[in-house]
Amino acid sequence: MARDIQALIAQMTLEEKAALCSGLDFWHTQPIERLNIPSVMLTDGPHGLRKQSGSGDHLGLHDSVPATCFPSGAALASSWDRALIQEVGKALGEECQAEGVAVLLGPAANIKRSPLCGRNFEYFSEDPYLSSEIATAHIEGVQSQGVGTSLKHFAVNNQEHRRMTTNALVDERVLREIYLASFEGAVVHAQPWTVMCAYNRVNGEFCSENAYLLTDILRNEWGFDGIVVSDWGAVNERVPGLAAGLDLEMPGNGGVGDRKIVEAVRSGALDEAVLNRAVERLLTTVFRAVDARKPDASYDPDAHHALARRAARESMVLLKNADAILPLKREGRLAVVGAFAESPRYQGGGSSHINPTRLDNIREELVKAAGVDVDVRYAPGYSLDGDDVQPEWIQEAKDIAGQADVAVVFAGLPERYESEGYDRNHLQLPGNHRALIEAVASVQPNVIVVLSNGAPIEMPWLDNVKGVLECYLGGQALGGAIADVLFGDVSPSGKLAETFPQKLSHNPSYLNFPGEGDKVEYKEGLFVGYRYYEAKDIEPLFPFGHGLSYTTFEYTGLTLDKTAMRDDELVAVSVTVKNTGAMTGQEVVQLYVADDESSVIRPRKELKGFAKVELAPGESRKVEFTLGKRAFAYYDVDLRDWRVETGHFAIAIGKSSRDIVLTEQIYVESTHEKARTYHVNSTIGDVLANPQVAPILQQFMESFRRDSDFMDAMKDNPEMGMALMKYMPLRAATTFGGGLITEEQLRQFIDQLNQAAGSRA
Ligand code: BGC
Repeated sequence: MARDIQALIAQMTLEEKAALCSGLDFWHTQPIERLNIPSVMLTDGPHGLRKQSGSGDHLGLHDSVPATCFPSGAALASSWDRALIQEVGKALGEECQAEGVAVLLGPAANIKRSPLCGRNFEYFSEDPYLSSEIATAHIEGVQSQGVGTSLKHFAVNNQEHRRMTTNALVDERVLREIYLASFEGAVVHAQPWTVMCAYNRVNGEFCSENAYLLTDILRNEWGFDGIVVSDWGAVNERVPGLAAGLDLEMPGNGGVGDRKIVEAVRSGALDEAVLNRAVERLLTTVFRAVDARKPDASYDPDAHHALARRAARESMVLLKNADAILPLKREGRLAVVGAFAESPRYQGGGSSHINPTRLDNIREELVKAAGVDVDVRYAPGYSLDGDDVQPEWIQEAKDIAGQADVAVVFAGLPERYESEGYDRNHLQLPGNHRALIEAVASVQPNVIVVLSNGAPIEMPWLDNVKGVLECYLGGQALGGAIADVLFGDVSPSGKLAETFPQKLSHNPSYLNFPGEGDKVEYKEGLFVGYRYYEAKDIEPLFPFGHGLSYTTFEYTGLTLDKTAMRDDELVAVSVTVKNTGAMTGQEVVQLYVADDESSVIRPRKELKGFAKVELAPGESRKVEFTLGKRAFAYYDVDLRDWRVETGHFAIAIGKSSRDIVLTEQIYVESTHEKARTYHVNSTIGDVLANPQVAPILQQFMESFRRDSDFMDAMKDNPEMGMALMKYMPLRAATTFGGGLITEEQLRQFIDQLNQAAGSRA
């Protein structure tokens, strides 16, 4: 319905405007009945609905209405499947409509800087491109139902340790290329209705009052036109926050912030126009939600459970499958050990904690899927209540495992290990889970470990087991999904969206996580995740992009539609993938770009495209990508913009970041060559590197070569001579020129260089 928002604002008192800028309570916006401005509900998020009808809290302490618990972010991202995530988003949107929720608080797109971060189970990836693509699909899905999203936590919220006070110190290029890029694509392409600012500070300023983040970048550069909402309790100073671009303070706190806004306007400290702009955005969003409300909406919990099952199985990553131990045969004796088989770990702790509509029992699902010819025996092996090893429980598990043909061990991280609010301080499994795996492996050669955990773990037992299936936190239908994959009704198709290091100390943030007091310095810079392991040649336990299948895929015919382009053009890339195995399967085709000739520090390669395709045995498909400037660019801090350096780039197609199967080259010419200005301290090497001016320098050097002892001496060993000359500043011509070059001549020469360099533009 068309409304005259300006006319409405004109009727509002100052107090009413200020009141609109904070919540009514924990989950609702403020209504203004006099003007028929309704209240709308915002609630968590991101992979299920946490609608509280009783007491509200932001840590998952109180009850919420039943809702479908889909796999959490870490799992969903491992599907690398935009269409699937959109479907999940759509289902979430339907549940919101059915419950009268206007905005779902998610997705969460923070970069996984360290595997220790307690909230990694909710986040998508260590790679900004993958993360922003997944977030885009999630937002598009939810918003297709007329329900808003809240892309969070903006920005640089990569740890839980001291999350409300810590100050993340990140340099501009790293901020842009890694931490902001993870949000940028999602904002630009999916336009979330709201963005949630993070608790922490970035480069000295709280996100909630960071005009650079909330206004300059988010609105002015990226074109965001929704509202910025504070993370729950993230407001430090309300008035500077409002001025910086924070529209809505949540939760409501009895008007503390509102009164400050009123006073600031009255005293002239805050321009009322700033408040009016926030009110305009808030009203636009509130009415948008109201207009999109479907009063009779309902959803089908069975259909959503089935979708949760599909999402879970397509997100699982088969990490190891020695001797093709998987899929399991539907015969013989199967030992199922580990208490998670009966009480699955399927979701994370904190604000995303969902009250599921139902919950699969993994053991029961396995029995059902196994059929009558499999004798399934179960032993819990460990207690869920603590980490202590129980020798009798282990013995029982050993007994049944020793008598079976295959043993499947369910292990992982209990909820107390990873949650919102705190980080882990090691990557180990609980002692009793590890002891169980080792004990079972000591009596049974055919062991498969099925893991439920929100983030990477170390696997000192890896060589003793044949199979490892990583399920992450697979949601309420995890059990059925595990049965589908273990018995081979579906081939696994997930790929890691993060690196599993061999050990924690290999992680690039290791020495600077979680920082000192309230200061955390991102000293690893651009080298987050695979960017670091590749640059340092450190073999990970499992690399980014890794994931096995029950079938095999062959890649051929990598083709670019051009071999050279300007950076304002596009290149079309295609590659053919064929299923060469015996079973239908899905493959994630990964495209990486490497800058082969770079004068700036860059990772060896970066993910710039991916596509998931399903292929029947023998079927092949041409997969196409389009790459533009951003695929080749780095963020140039002097230019304050993205820039491509002219030169050759490699376009590499991989099955994982470490398994590159095809590569082609392209020459990309920059449309923004940096204007070079030469001066007395420009080095000879830098001048010679520019073909436009190099001949002028060569001629200049030639002119006094004959008469200079120094230059003469160089003749005997020209290679060494050149190496020595390379880093000499131009002023060396007077210093070492034996008086042959005057300062005036040098000045004239430099003018000549600058004219030649300038005339090329
Ligand atoms: C979390 C947010 C969440 C909010 C509301 C905060 O503690 O950081 O992700 O949406 O609470 O529950």
